[in-house]
Amino acid sequence: MELLLDLHPDLYPLEGFRRRQVLDWVFGQGAGSFAAMTNLPTDLRTELATQYHLNPYREIETVRSTDGSVKYLFTLLDGRQMEAVYMPYLDRKTICVSTMVGCPAKCAFCATGAMGFGRNLTPGEIVGQVLAVAGGEGLEPRELRNLVFMGMGEPLLNYANTMQAARILLHPQALGMSKRRVTLSTVGLPRGIRQLAAEDDLGIKLAISLHAPDEETRNRIIPTGHRNSIAEIMDSAREYQAATGRRVTFEYAMLQGVNDHLWQAELLAGLLRGLVSHVNLIPMNPWEGSGFESSSETQIQAFYDALEERGVDVSVRRSRGKDAGAACGQLALKRPGAVSGSA
Ligand code: SAH
Repeated sequence: MELLLDLHPDLYPLEGFRRRQVLDWVFGQGAGSFAAMTNLPTDLRTELATQYHLNPYREIETVRSTDGSVKYLFTLLDGRQMEAVYMPYLDRKTICVSTMVGCPAKCAFCATGAMGFGRNLTPGEIVGQVLAVAGGEGLEPRELRNLVFMGMGEPLLNYANTMQAARILLHPQALGMSKRRVTLSTVGLPRGIRQLAAEDDLGIKLAISLHAPDEETRNRIIPTGHRNSIAEIMDSAREYQAATGRRVTFEYAMLQGVNDHLWQAELLAGLLRGLVSHVNLIPMNPWEGSGFESSSETQIQAFYDALEERGVDVSVRRSRGKDAGAACGQLALKRPGAVSGSA
């Protein structure tokens, strides 16, 4: 049986009016079954239910953090698991979604990297995370207006499925998200970044996990990094900017004694010259056995100041959900001692 959510909204197997009704049930109301679509003829509901299924997950568990963010642990129909994180802020509700089970990038400081690659998620398994989180939080799906592809996996290595998911997120009759509020984060694959730049109906925001301005350090913490030089990554970022007009974000996890030296801040500022960019410094979220520690507050401040003095637009990202194992780089961790329950 096919997963209905895998389809592009324009290709739902129904005509105009009926299609809009079904889309509204799925994405407007977050209906969990065809039976719930009470304004559709019973025959049609039965027929849809014999050809398609709606729910990509066998089980959903949640871990709530004291800061209000919630980790959603999904068991897929084949028994594999992946995660999403819900982050309510005063002015917005953000969801962080996974694009893979595990990840092949193997960044040394990331817990997901340590679990290795499981498989790609389908478009419906990606989009379904939004519907499930909305349901779990008592929201209508379209109330989740900000989305980041920053969960498990490397979105540009699951390219086609991630693009299809993005098109469903942006589709006005599906989730209707604004492209300005959807961000794709990549480990930095120039070919994928160029390909994304050419998707001119998308124009979503791009974040690049740079994490070091020199090859030696970058290759040490991102072992797959040696396939693409920093110079190539920066070139592709410039192309993305030229094609989309968007500011590009660079993520930089602060690792004590590894990438937090002031000469590295200086080098980073040099790389960013001529690019409209933003640097996000992320204090490293610790996990047992990683072998890395976060830079101290003092060092983060010094690094920040060194960038700012050189005209770099920079901020420090305070990760949410640390006590729930839901912060950046902690997905795939065993549940810590936080309150958990079923959604
Ligand atoms: N594969 C994509 C998206 C997933 S990771 C990418 O590499 O960008 C989302 C962000 O969290 C990345 O910038 C990643 O490098 C960062 N991250 C991973 N582990 C982390 C950790 N332990 N502490 C802080 N940030 C981490």
